[in-house]
Amino acid sequence: EYDFSASNRSSTPRNGQVKEVTSLANPIVKDLRSLAMKKFRDQQGVFMAEGLKLVIDALDLNWKIKVLVFAKSGKGNKLAEQAAARTVASGGLVLEVSEKVMAGITRRDNPQMVVGVFEQQYQSLKNLKPSGNDTYIALDRVRDPGNLGTVIRTADAVGAKGVILIGDTTDPYSLETVRATMGSVFALPLYRASEADFLQWRKGFSGMIVGTHLKGSVDYRTIDYAKKPVILMMGNEQQGLPDTLAETCDKLARIPQAGRADSLNLAIATAVMLYEVRREALILDERP
Ligand code: SAM
Repeated sequence: EYDFSASNRSSTPRNGQVKEVTSLANPIVKDLRSLAMKKFRDQQGVFMAEGLKLVIDALDLNWKIKVLVFAKSGKGNKLAEQAAARTVASGGLVLEVSEKVMAGITRRDNPQMVVGVFEQQYQSLKNLKPSGNDTYIALDRVRDPGNLGTVIRTADAVGAKGVILIGDTTDPYSLETVRATMGSVFALPLYRASEADFLQWRKGFSGMIVGTHLKGSVDYRTIDYAKKPVILMMGNEQQGLPDTLAETCDKLARIPQAGRADSLNLAIATAVMLYEVRREALILDERP
């Protein structure tokens, strides 16, 4: 088995070097393919990110790259070559592969030119000390990878400071979630906590926790979000927030609805909330 953390092994290529691979049966390729499963990602503490833009963003933000998989079609592409050089320089392994192998690794018919394998990073709640008008999003047992990825991307877009994953959640480092974040998974910190740990941490938090609840009696537009750091808490897709978490909220907000839908999609509700929470913090700049 390829040890993504090893720096020097005799049976497998050393990190800090380039190796060419054309067979799906190659053991390193098999290990890369196994990263589609959470069990193996967690064992190795790594995850995959597809595409040159994501890989460059991650390198620029100092994420530790373990392996860069490079399709032959990427040869001659200056940025891809630079990413490969940076990988080798930081002690990572560069794998040059055929299209077939790349498709096998990413389980896609039209794979990207490069795929990076990075070290997972979680921050500890102990170090979370919101201040000023900081915004954080706390997600209770989020299940759907697309929802989680979309929330992380939106959180990044509104300038939130981090996402707190409470309880048993879908893996932020699955291929599907990473894809849905469009690179934002590299841009903002992820915290992980059990419900009990979150409730414990909360005792020392003097900002405002705004929960969203279909039974909330407060219109989300009537809350003053600007004065304190805010933690926006969102409920599980099927069950919504449990009483234990709802009771710890300073406010329970509801987004008005008309029509037949029972509720909004979790990621959509998060976006609607975030744009209200960040109303004063966000101004249109000159970006196209
Ligand atoms: N059946 C669940 C329930 O009864 O709570 C529906 C959960 S909804 C799909 C997922 C989450 O999105 C909710 O827990 C809440 O955080 C948020 N949400 C969805 N629609 C909302 C609304 N109209 N007002 C406030 N929050 C909402």
